[in-house]
Amino acid sequence: MEDNSKANRGGSFPVKESPDISKAESRDFIRTIIAEDIKSGKHKKIVTRFPPEPNGFLHIGHAKSICLNFGIAEENNSVCHLRFDDTNPGKESTEYVEAIKSDVRWLGHDWGEHLYYASDYFDRLHDFGVQLIKMGKAYVCHLNSDEVREQRGTLTKPGLESPYRNRSAVENLQFFEQMKNGELIEGSCVLRAKIDMASPNILMRDPVLYRILKTSHHRTGNKWCIYPMYDFTHCLSDMIEGITHSLCTLEFENNRPLYDWVLDTLNTPCHPRQIEFARLNINYTVMSKRKLLQLVNEGHVSGWDDPRMLTISGLRRRGYTPESIRSFCDIIGIGKRESWIDMGVLENTVRDDLNDHAPRVMGVIKPLKVVITNYPEDMVEEVTAQNHPKKPEMGTRKVPFCRELYIEATDFMEDPPKKFFRLAPGKEVRLRYAYFITCHEIIKNDTGEIVELRCTYDPETAGGSAPDGRKVKGTIHWVSARHALQAEVRLYDRLFTVEHPDMDKEKDFKEFLNPESLQLLDNCMLEPFLGDAQPADRYQFERQGYFCLDTKDSEPGRPVFNRIVTLRDTWARLAAK
Ligand code: ATP
Ligand code: MG
Repeated sequence: MEDNSKANRGGSFPVKESPDISKAESRDFIRTIIAEDIKSGKHKKIVTRFPPEPNGFLHIGHAKSICLNFGIAEENNSVCHLRFDDTNPGKESTEYVEAIKSDVRWLGHDWGEHLYYASDYFDRLHDFGVQLIKMGKAYVCHLNSDEVREQRGTLTKPGLESPYRNRSAVENLQFFEQMKNGELIEGSCVLRAKIDMASPNILMRDPVLYRILKTSHHRTGNKWCIYPMYDFTHCLSDMIEGITHSLCTLEFENNRPLYDWVLDTLNTPCHPRQIEFARLNINYTVMSKRKLLQLVNEGHVSGWDDPRMLTISGLRRRGYTPESIRSFCDIIGIGKRESWIDMGVLENTVRDDLNDHAPRVMGVIKPLKVVITNYPEDMVEEVTAQNHPKKPEMGTRKVPFCRELYIEATDFMEDPPKKFFRLAPGKEVRLRYAYFITCHEIIKNDTGEIVELRCTYDPETAGGSAPDGRKVKGTIHWVSARHALQAEVRLYDRLFTVEHPDMDKEKDFKEFLNPESLQLLDNCMLEPFLGDAQPADRYQFERQGYFCLDTKDSEPGRPVFNRIVTLRDTWARLAAK
C-alpha cells in the first residue's frame, strides 16, 4: 500500500491576491502564537522542524516552509531540525537526501547537529504500535485495500467496522509480529488504529498505521518489511525530537485530530502543536514533486536543476540568489487563505537584488559585424567602463575598442520607423563608453541577409560626447571583434503558457508546456573581461538582462551564460497590451 495520506489536498478555488509588501515586516499569525507561548511561559525554547520526504528535489514551495521554520528558529535564538520523512522506501533515495541538504544550506540555513531521519525512529515507532495494540487501540486488519476503502463510508455515510476490529490484543500482537518478520505477504493485512468508524472526519475512521512493504530502504536496508504511515510517524517523530510547533500546510488540517489522538492515546510526555498555513502556489508552473519528476523522467527538461524549473536547484543554476528567494518568501508572507502568487513577483525579487549587486558588462547576443572604415587597422584603444552606474565603489574596467566590432543585430534597421533611435543608414548613434558612429554602407550575402555594416567614427567624440554639442538619441552596446569572447547564451521563458497548467481536468498539464521556453544562442560575443567569470557569477549584460555563468556546461574558453531574468517584466507589458 502506498501512503497517499500526505497528498489529499483540498480543491479550493484560487483567489488572486497581490502580496502586500508591508506584510514582510509585520508578524504573521504563527509568529504571534509563538510569541504568546514564550510570553506565557508555555515554552522557554522553541523547536521547529523542516520535514521533507526525500522523494524528489525541493521546489520554491518548500522554500516557503524552510524560511518559515528556520526563520522562526533564528529569530528565537533556537533550533530548527532537518528531518527526512523517509517512510515510503520505494520512492526515496540518498541522492535526494543529499540534494535537499545542499539546497537548504544554499538557502542560508543551518540545522547544526539536528539532522534526523524518521527511519531512525523505526524501532521506537514499532514499540508504540505494540503499545497501542496492548491498550486495545490498534488491531491487525485482513481486509484488502479495496475493502478498507469501501468500508470507510463517505462524508454522509458512516463507515463499517472491520470484522477484525474486536480481536484480542494477544492475537493482534501475534499477527503484528508476523507482519514484522516478513511471514505475511504484502497487502494481506495492515495495522489500523481503533478510533471511530462513524467519525465525521474520515481520517479518524480506523486509519492505517502500518503496512507490509518488502522494499529495501535507503537507510535501513532490508531490516524492515513493515513501514509506518505518515500520520503515525509524523506526530511521534515531532514528539521524540521535542518539537514545540509543528508547522505544515493547510491540507493537513484534517490530519490534526489524528496527530493529537496518537499523542494523547500514548500519553506522550511532549505534545507538539500542529499549526497549518497556506501553501505557496505560483502561476505558470507546477509545484508538486510528482509532476516535476514527470518532467524530468520524460525529458521535457534537462533534469531537476533545469534552469526553467522552480526547484531550488533549478533557480540556483538559473542564477537566482539565496537572498532573493528569502526576500520573496518574506514578501509573500504567511497566511491561512489559499492564494496564487504571480510569477512576476518572484522575477521581480531577483531583478531588484541583481540591480543592486550585479556588475554591468557588454555582451552582444545576436551579433552583427561593424567595420569602422576610418579607424586605423591595427590600433586598439581601451575605454573605461563603469561596473555599476550608481555604485562607483564597484570600480571600473578597461574595454578594448578597435576597427571591427560587433553590435546587436536588432540595433540596426535598414528601413527604420520614425522612432527608431538606434543605427540605420545615414544615422549616427553613440557606442557606449566610446565614440559616435555613422552608418554608410550595408553589406549583404547572397540571400539578402545583412552581414556587415560599414561605418565611420568621429574621433572628436571619445567618451561619448561631441565638442560641437551635437546630440544623438541612441546609445548601443558593442564588443571588439578581435577581443570578443565567444559564448553560448541560453534565454529562458516560462515553462508553461497558461497560468494554471494543472487545473484543467480534461487535459494533461504537459499539454501546456511552452515550446519556446528555451532559446539557445551559440554565437554570442562578450567583452573579454568575462573570460575571468567563475561558475555562478552574475552580471547585467547592459540592455539585455541579468546572466549567470552556467555551473554545469561552461568550459574554459567556451562559457555558457543563462539569462536569469530580463531587465523589465516583459510579461506584464504583454498583459497590458
Ligand atoms: P509535493 O506536493 O511537492 O510533493 P510535499 O508536501 O509532498 O510536496 P514534502 O517533502 O512532504 O513535500 O514537504 C516538506 C514540507 O514542505 C512539508 O512541511 C510541506 O508542508 C512543505 N511544503 C511542500 N510544498 C509546499 C508549498 N507549496 N508551500 C509551502 N510549503 C510546502
Ligand atoms: Mg509528498
